[in-house]
Amino acid sequence: MDLGIAGRRALVCAASKGLGRGCAQALASAGCAVTVVARTEETLRATAQAIEAASGQPVQWVACDITTAEGRAAALAACPQPDILVNNAGGPPPGNFRDWDRDAWIRALDANMLTPIELIKATVDPMIERRFGRIVNITSGAVKAPIDILGLSNGARSGLTGFVAGVAREVARHNVTINNLLPGPFDTDRQRATALGVAKASGKTVDEVLAARRNANPSGRFGGIDEFGAMCAFLCSTHAGFVVGQNILLDGGAYPGTF
Ligand code: NAD
Repeated sequence: MDLGIAGRRALVCAASKGLGRGCAQALASAGCAVTVVARTEETLRATAQAIEAASGQPVQWVACDITTAEGRAAALAACPQPDILVNNAGGPPPGNFRDWDRDAWIRALDANMLTPIELIKATVDPMIERRFGRIVNITSGAVKAPIDILGLSNGARSGLTGFVAGVAREVARHNVTINNLLPGPFDTDRQRATALGVAKASGKTVDEVLAARRNANPSGRFGGIDEFGAMCAFLCSTHAGFVVGQNILLDGGAYPGTF
């Protein structure tokens, strides 16, 4: 399927690895001029080069922390008027809410709620003027079914979800859509990092923890970043202009509800 977005400018945050990288790859394969952002220059440059080689499209990269004002300024300086924005950042650490002070909450809110809101604010009006815009926020299945040890994520991402629900309806008549993608378990570094924490606490090996997680999913496996990227690219396509303010789960069926 031709996604109709060849030549569109796409800014993809937190994209040297994992889900963000999957989105950047899929958008570049659809012909977009992609700018990828992540903190570590070496990894990011290698990712940009790999995507460029695979897609034949130019890929710009900006090494910065997207959760800071300076980082966002650097990303927007490199890609000032994106047609497509994919909001993403590392997830907050797990823990017990009794141990989280105000600073821990502010860090989570900055990364997973206020950073995407700032980037939407900086890019949405030019999208409205051009009568084309696609914004996808990578949130989490935890927004729909909270995960007890990820209270910082449950809370911060729910704040973003509430904001997006309102603003998506405000901009939709200008052919600007804002939607959220909610990952369940995907095969990424983040998955392995949280498995390591569980392994240490439970005395199991990381492989045992990962195998149990795969087994617990109705699909019997983790999702792949290519599958995630394909859904993101479709949401950014010309075909998805009527998909507005949705929270789309990609979780292999983990969420147990009928709807
Ligand atoms: P990952 O660790 O594999 O990759 C994260 C990417 O973000 C890396 O490229 C890293 O360099 C970059 N990054 C992190 N913090 C950044 C920052 N402040 N500024 C710029 N770049 C930054 O993680 P992932 O699994 O791809 O997860 C992406 C998001 O999705 C996270 O918020 C995570 O909590 C969430 N999520 C992931 C899963 C999963 O199963 N993988 C499930 C639910 C939610």
